[in-house]
Amino acid sequence: MHSVSKTNPNRRNTFRSSNPFMPVSMLLFLSLLCTLFPFSTVATDSVYDNLVHCLSSNTNTKDQFSKIIYNPYNSSYTTILQDYIRNRRFNTSTTRKPLLIVTPLKESDVQTTIICVKKIGVQLKIRSGGHDYEGISYVSNVPFIILDIFNLRSIDIDIKDETAWVQSGATVGELYYSIWQKSKVHGFPAGICPTMGIGGHISGGGYGNLLRKYGLSVDNVIDAQIVDVKGRILDRKAMGEDLFWAIRGGGGASFGVVLAYKLKLVPVSPIVTVFRVIKTLEDNASDLIYHWQFVANKIDSNLFIRLLLQPNYYKEQGYWNIFKLQYFANWNEDDAASDKKYVEQTRTLYSYMTPFVSKNPREAFLNYRDLDIGTTDNGKNTYTEAMVYGVKFFKGNFARLVKAKTIIDPENFFRNEQSIPPLPSHERNKVN
Ligand SMILES: Cc1cc2nc3c(=O)[nH]c(=O)nc-3n(C[C@H](O)[C@H](O)[C@H](O)COP(=O)(O)OP(=O)(O)OC[C@H]3O[C@@H](n4cnc5c(N)ncnc54)[C@H](O)[C@@H]3O)c2cc1C
Repeated sequence: MHSVSKTNPNRRNTFRSSNPFMPVSMLLFLSLLCTLFPFSTVATDSVYDNLVHCLSSNTNTKDQFSKIIYNPYNSSYTTILQDYIRNRRFNTSTTRKPLLIVTPLKESDVQTTIICVKKIGVQLKIRSGGHDYEGISYVSNVPFIILDIFNLRSIDIDIKDETAWVQSGATVGELYYSIWQKSKVHGFPAGICPTMGIGGHISGGGYGNLLRKYGLSVDNVIDAQIVDVKGRILDRKAMGEDLFWAIRGGGGASFGVVLAYKLKLVPVSPIVTVFRVIKTLEDNASDLIYHWQFVANKIDSNLFIRLLLQPNYYKEQGYWNIFKLQYFANWNEDDAASDKKYVEQTRTLYSYMTPFVSKNPREAFLNYRDLDIGTTDNGKNTYTEAMVYGVKFFKGNFARLVKAKTIIDPENFFRNEQSIPPLPSHERNKVN
């Protein structure tokens, strides 16, 4: 599935995870042209002027902001917006567009942007790789600005120390390649799709083929840098262990802008053997799947088996990515009716699976974003709304995440449709 967007950009896909460890997801991808302007050009003008004025008065460099702020009149606006839209379903003429896109060139640009956008009072969306399944890093129902950090993508590998500092705008593929350039016996446990952004992927957990041997990406993060709502750059020591814990699985976007993670590299063999076994129902595939579930997590941790259930259609099309258990729908049509039809099919499948997966709550994986499981409009009921999806994503950890949020961002500046809310003000005395 991960290569579909690259190999055939005319294809559309939607799927929900059925993996018992990460049971819910929904994905609809890829990229298409669009021309619509954002909410209102008048609003754009005034926000642009206010932002430039504020940024200029918060820095010594006067002219640089014209190079990092894009409004819809700018000829590069559409290209920059679309470059990191990885889900074609959210790249249509009717998709809401940002008032502005800010593309920081250095860390201090992020700091001043946060201070100024907070002052202006517009919703800020943070985007790294743009792979969010619901596009919430670049789509919103309210007027918004995108902080797009693709320019902040440096990777600094220290093989002697077996660590790497990687900025959030880098992709997972760039990280793998940089490690490989320095050492053939080091790696990092993260996901498969090479164009995923470090910022979203790692802050949401991150799993890949080294999962059995080394755990999740976040199990191998040893430090981080985040810009908080006050515009401060905090490392692990400065942010404290609760926030450091929160941005390793709780999603960065609720807490601040993650600038970079420091990663512990893991030893890998210079030679990796990969093979696939294709079985059909006639080959008794059902029996194989049945037995797989009893051995998959017990065999030697050097062996990772991904089980992928697919109809023959994908085999005929050459679509085999390996041993991943998933539900998958794919379509070529480019119209809203088809979108609706295939989304409904995945919803039906998701519903059909209810008796067979986790219950109370039916669990979900943050990196497999699915707005169907609950949303908040960040209004006065945000805490109770967030509880609905929060316990599905985080179970008992939701409360600890709320506590971390309340301390670092009590006014809920960093928010989105599925963010962690602060405690309601009348309950704040519970946070010490
Ligand atoms: C084709 C495909 C394959 C995938 N494969 C895997 C896989 O193998 N393993 C796995 O675990 N997941 C996988 N995912 C899910 C992926 O990990 C998530 O979609 C992840 O959030 C993508 O991160 P991003 O930076 O590319 O996305 P974005 O859309 O840029 O961001 C996702 C979320 O993170 C927030 N965010 C981004 N950057 C920052 C930042 N610097 N600071 C704070 N918040 C930030 C955004 O605001 C948004 O809420 C896959 C997704 C796709 C589309």
